[in-house]
Amino acid sequence: MKATTARPTQWPIIAKDPASFRVPPNLGEYEEVRKSFTWDQARRELSGLPGGRGLNIAYEAVDRHAAGDRSGREALRFIRSDGGTHSLSYAQLASQTNRFAAVLRQLGVGRDERVFSLLGRSPDLYVAVLGTFKNASVFCPLFPAFGPEPVQQRLRLGAGRVLVTSRALYRKKVAPIRGSLPELRFVLLADADGHPEPDTLDLTALLAQASPDQDIAVTQPEDMALLHFTSGTTGTPKGAIHVHEAVVAHYATGRYALDLHPDDIYWCTADPGWVTGTSYGIIAPLVHGVTVVVDEEELDIDRWYRILAEQHITVWYTAPTALRMLMKAGAERAAGHDLSALRFVASVGEPLHPEAVVWGQEVLGLPIHDNWWQTETGGIMISNYPSMPIRPGSMGRALPGIDAALVARDAQGKPIIQDGEAKLVTEPDTVGELALRPGWPSMFRGYLNEDERYRRCFAGGWYLTGDLARRDGDGYFWFVGRGDDVIKSSGHLIGPFEVESCLMEHPAVAEAGVIGVPDPVAGEVVKAFVELQRGQEPSEELRLAIIGFARKRLGAAVAPRLLDFTTDLPKTRSGKILRRLLKARELGLPEGDLSTLEQAGPRP
Ligand code: AMP
Repeated sequence: MKATTARPTQWPIIAKDPASFRVPPNLGEYEEVRKSFTWDQARRELSGLPGGRGLNIAYEAVDRHAAGDRSGREALRFIRSDGGTHSLSYAQLASQTNRFAAVLRQLGVGRDERVFSLLGRSPDLYVAVLGTFKNASVFCPLFPAFGPEPVQQRLRLGAGRVLVTSRALYRKKVAPIRGSLPELRFVLLADADGHPEPDTLDLTALLAQASPDQDIAVTQPEDMALLHFTSGTTGTPKGAIHVHEAVVAHYATGRYALDLHPDDIYWCTADPGWVTGTSYGIIAPLVHGVTVVVDEEELDIDRWYRILAEQHITVWYTAPTALRMLMKAGAERAAGHDLSALRFVASVGEPLHPEAVVWGQEVLGLPIHDNWWQTETGGIMISNYPSMPIRPGSMGRALPGIDAALVARDAQGKPIIQDGEAKLVTEPDTVGELALRPGWPSMFRGYLNEDERYRRCFAGGWYLTGDLARRDGDGYFWFVGRGDDVIKSSGHLIGPFEVESCLMEHPAVAEAGVIGVPDPVAGEVVKAFVELQRGQEPSEELRLAIIGFARKRLGAAVAPRLLDFTTDLPKTRSGKILRRLLKARELGLPEGDLSTLEQAGPRP
């Protein structure tokens, strides 16, 4: 069994030669920047709304560039399926987002009301996100591969007032559940083409009629801007609330962790349905006034190498699951592509194998820089910086302005609190729960309608991340594993509870337990253990029928790929399924020593 992270000594450190830097890194000497950095200073480097009237993410990302000498620069460059491109300059993006805000205002959609999207990576999605901020409304992106149930659940929990979607997605996933969503007043179809479906509106027509000069609404730093649903293990998805002030962290992390410089052509491969695709696929790069490349298609190895080469990508932010697919395809697929424009590559979302870091160096000509964060932190918290040597397998060091620590846990896995203060792990290379000192600008401000759940995330003066990690003697953090059972498959975070609940709706299923099992490409794949109703017999036909049932409801990204029938799901006395025990059995670990699971991590 291989541990999630290599120990610091196993892989040689990748040194950086300053002579090889094509541009001087924004973060020069780590310790010096850490000492001098303040969030107040970062805040002052942004514009704020004209006249000191407040702070709005869209103004910082778009309008201040549109009003200055970057107005004609490409802000967004979309790559269509045929490889053709379509761009919006900062000036055009300012007008289009003004129009979207004007549409919302005409419809009577106001401050704090929720605008959802269920849409592929098309210009309308990006215009909707930023236009929503301009109307002081709240944006909530949904991943377009979600099935009707996750869509319904999130629209309901978030009290979605507006949904921006396409005709096909509406017909398949929303029309059948529309009746159960009385708060959803307006569905705007991006591709209605003059013929909207019943009870929907034609977004293109509305935008064409709206004013491009709509004034931006005044928002304050603490006003809610984004709602990001993240999956929990023991209940319904949690809606993490983010505010306009988050843009200060997006700016600082874009500067230090992604090393954005004004002339960069930047590509983030994450879909805006996930927090990375919003914070770093839209906000951070636009705040820096760079050109953001958006691929409208899904991962395709040759296409990706072509994009890197032909679009002259300079900074690339991607994920281990994608890198693993490129690695598996073989280095020869990269041959013949001129990747010389590329100067910085970063990865997030799951542990990045040391092999992947080194593969980057060999195949892309650059090592991969891992960084760590989560939906709740709103932005990158721990990172490998361009100027800093890489220890392959490590997530890097805490961002300037971020106080990260490891909190000691008791035998039950609870944080140890003494006299109101969390007990910190001070010994190097010792496992603890990764914790952050609250107060950074992009910290989530709550879980929607779940105050108690939010409060439970903090203890002894720290925000507890739920992840286990080690820190070496030089302050590099090493991921150990998740403290709970959430499954990470191809970059998707999947709550077992959500999958189990769906399986149990199948008439033949009595009960289900769901875990993630190691997979060389996806990181983990979802595996279900199912107990059948009395009178039902296991068969291959039934197995496929149940998987098909789940796929239809949950979408292929969330439904189980593997399914075993069982007659003895392990449970606690109170009846809760012991997923960790299921996992121990699956991985052939001793059932008595479940703590080894945390050391083992999600890979073989
Ligand atoms: P999400 O909230 O969907 O962004 O998922 C956040 C979780 O993904 C974190 O709490 C970690 O468990 C995991 N994660 C993110 N980045 C990394 C990384 N660089 N290394 C290991 N795990 C990561």
